[in-house]
Amino acid sequence: MEWKIGKGNRDCVACNKGFSEEEEYYSAIFDEQGGFIRKDFCIPCWSNPKSEVFFSFWKTKVPKQGKHAQKFLNTDVLLDMVSKLEGSMEAHQRNLRYVLVLYLIRKKVFKFKSLSREEGGEHLVIYFPREDREFKVYNPSLKVEEIESITAEMNQLLNYPYLEHEATS
Ligand SMILES: [Zn+2]
Repeated sequence: MEWKIGKGNRDCVACNKGFSEEEEYYSAIFDEQGGFIRKDFCIPCWSNPKSEVFFSFWKTKVPKQGKHAQKFLNTDVLLDMVSKLEGSMEAHQRNLRYVLVLYLIRKKVFKFKSLSREEGGEHLVIYFPREDREFKVYNPSLKVEEIESITAEMNQLLNYPYLEHEATS
C-alpha cells in the first residue's frame, strides 16, 4: 500500500498560506493513482473547491503553542472510510478496510461475530451496535507485520505527524 504524506504540510495546499496557532482547517483524503494522500486546506480555499473529489475529510485545528496535538482519530472519519471502501476489489483498499475494521473492533465500535467462508474467500461478520446491523469484511489474511505497517501508515495519514514529531523533539 502506498501512502504519501506531504512533508511538513503546515500550510494550505491550495493557496500555500501557513496555518496559525488555533486556526481551524480541513484535512481531506484523496485517492490518487491507487494510493491515498492527505491534503490540508484553509477554510476559504475549502469553501471554494477546485473540482477536486475527495475520499473523506474532517475539520481540525492547529493546537495552541506548547500544547500537544490532540491524539486524533475521529471515529466518524474511520466509519466513513469503512463504508466508502465497501465493495472495493482493489487490494490496497481491501487491506485498508480490513485494518480499519480491526481497529474499530479494538475500540469497541464494532463487534466481531463470526467468520464466514464463502465464494471469493473468508469474511468477518461484524456487528455494528450503533446502527444495529451486521456487515461483512473480506479477510485478506494479512500477516501481523502487514497489519502493523498499515496501521502505522493509517495513523500517519490521519494524525498530525508533524506536530507529534515536534512534541517529541
Ligand atoms: Zn488556502
